[in-house]
Amino acid sequence: MRLIEIFYSMQGEGPAMGRPATFVRLAGCNLRCQGCDTDERPCRELSVPDVRESIQGKRVVITGGEPTLQMEELSQLISLLHDLGKEIHIETNGTNPIPEEMLDKIHCAVVSPKRGSDFHLDFWAGKKNVHLKFVLGKAPWCWTFELLEQLVPALAKERVWIMAYGTDQDMQGAREAWDLALRLDVNYSDRLHIRLKRR
Ligand code: SF4
Repeated sequence: MRLIEIFYSMQGEGPAMGRPATFVRLAGCNLRCQGCDTDERPCRELSVPDVRESIQGKRVVITGGEPTLQMEELSQLISLLHDLGKEIHIETNGTNPIPEEMLDKIHCAVVSPKRGSDFHLDFWAGKKNVHLKFVLGKAPWCWTFELLEQLVPALAKERVWIMAYGTDQDMQGAREAWDLALRLDVNYSDRLHIRLKRR
């Protein structure tokens, strides 16, 4: 697999916020969101068994980049981790639907659709182990108040998260995301790793 890094830390955002996990960050993405450095980061090749050997603890978050670009290797890794009884989480931009058989082995898929991309909302919204995380902000790929006010009411509220775009410790925009989540009666996600300057 082409990957950027494997590390053990705490999930800082979304439904598993505050829970420890091994993060497997895969390389490459099919989108080019402004401000994202994923394609500039050095990466290496590691076999699926070697990735498995580097995993600590019960929970694994497979992230990117866009993990579904390596669907075959991803499927092998998920099967291996599932057989080991790991709690598998995945983070994706939603542009490549994950086959049902693979999705069934995943405890929680967090789909963070980017504005203007083809993110297959009907497919994801119907899955009980899928949470949708929308990033509110001014960048062209972020969501606006108006768009989320139109989109969110038709979705399962307990599986929708609103988070501010923020890479600085003060997380400007967090209050607006909080207020919008409250108004729409959905979940607010912070970015604890950014606030606490942790990886
Ligand atoms: S989808 Fe995620 S990884 Fe891909 S370019 Fe956008 S922010 Fe970066």
